[in-house]
Amino acid sequence: MSAPSPTQFRPTFPVERIREDFPILHQEVRGKPLVYLDNGATVQKPNAVIDATARYYRHDNANVHRGVHALSERATAAYNAARSTAQRFINADDHREIVFVRGTTEAINLVAQTWGKANVGPGDEIILTELEHHANIVPWQLLCEQTGAKLRVAPIDDRGDVILEVYAELFSERTRLVAVSHVSNALGTINPIRRMIETAHAHGVPVLVDGAQAAPHMRIDVQELDCDFYAFSGHKVYGPTGIGVLYGKAALLDAMPPYQGGGDMVRRVSFEGTDFAPIPYKFEAGTHNIAGAIGLGVALDYVNGIGLESIAAHEHRLLSYATEALADMNGLRIIGTAREKAGLLSFVIEGAHAHDIGTIMDVQGVAIRAGHHCAMPAMQRFGVAATARASFAAYNTLEEVDALVTGITKVREVFRL
Ligand code: PLP
Repeated sequence: MSAPSPTQFRPTFPVERIREDFPILHQEVRGKPLVYLDNGATVQKPNAVIDATARYYRHDNANVHRGVHALSERATAAYNAARSTAQRFINADDHREIVFVRGTTEAINLVAQTWGKANVGPGDEIILTELEHHANIVPWQLLCEQTGAKLRVAPIDDRGDVILEVYAELFSERTRLVAVSHVSNALGTINPIRRMIETAHAHGVPVLVDGAQAAPHMRIDVQELDCDFYAFSGHKVYGPTGIGVLYGKAALLDAMPPYQGGGDMVRRVSFEGTDFAPIPYKFEAGTHNIAGAIGLGVALDYVNGIGLESIAAHEHRLLSYATEALADMNGLRIIGTAREKAGLLSFVIEGAHAHDIGTIMDVQGVAIRAGHHCAMPAMQRFGVAATARASFAAYNTLEEVDALVTGITKVREVFRL
């Protein structure tokens, strides 16, 4: 079936207006208009975020929590407001359940090294899935090395869906935690995490959800999911780099030992011992990325202003359009055809290495990602070393998908495929 033309869609989504908010998009790269389709790696920033960060440094810059002067009060108020915004964004019950971290990677390492060390011992088991990002594999491997615990891995099928029957059979009385991606960055699979959490809880096992690829694309409600931990990165949700969120149920965070020691995470220190600050400050040692947190708050407001449901519908339209356009191409194989997918398309072309695909696309001004996407086990499952990946955001257009398709045609010409 041939792909529908862009005019067959009548999008009501204000994509052109949204594009105006992103200065970086309005440039030429290698003499061609930039087509940015590497949003799975990081998303571009709207003026609102850039301006808020600059405004903070121009007008309010001071350290938080410790000052009695006006600038410190302003910085503290803005930092606290960002925490409340993040709380509302994922519908957490309490702002104390929001810990600011560097990103998803640090959030998972924090849980592994605090909750993990306190609750996981020799012979215990942690369940992951085959589609995890390295950020949700390596911290657990390190914990296993330190404690003598083991990983159990739920396999995925040929589409890239977790095989839920096998997942359910992995539980034993030694299972201590499930750590699972909400959305796979390599395949686009949206995992049925509500169901996976229910299964885990039926065994009394808590669940950490890696939401790095979900937060920018769908509404997250941690209370409805009933997850125990949820992690996401600011830079993937239109915010700055170096800031992210670890959500944890208050009772769990309360009971966890601190992660790093230092200033701001203590109530009282003497050489005899230290009383730690209450959550979330117990986990926020040292001077934090204050500008980043403020920028993140603005980014989350920006996303809410457009509406996550509208963003999801728009990205889905782009995904369907791209999938149809690529489906009939000879020698092109889409890697990841899960029942429910986020706006992300991984593919390989027989006879062309993924990195060469990426380079030829770049010459045409189209930025995609090529590689293993920090998900080597998922690549191995599909028998490939690397894929090319186009991933969509709210500002992408159907015409940009056309540019992707034209770029791929060029790749095929270059390789005489
Ligand atoms: N988990 C997933 C699914 C990801 O896609 C990524 C980044 O690509 C991460 C975790 C790590 O995120 P960060 O590098 O922002 O810590």
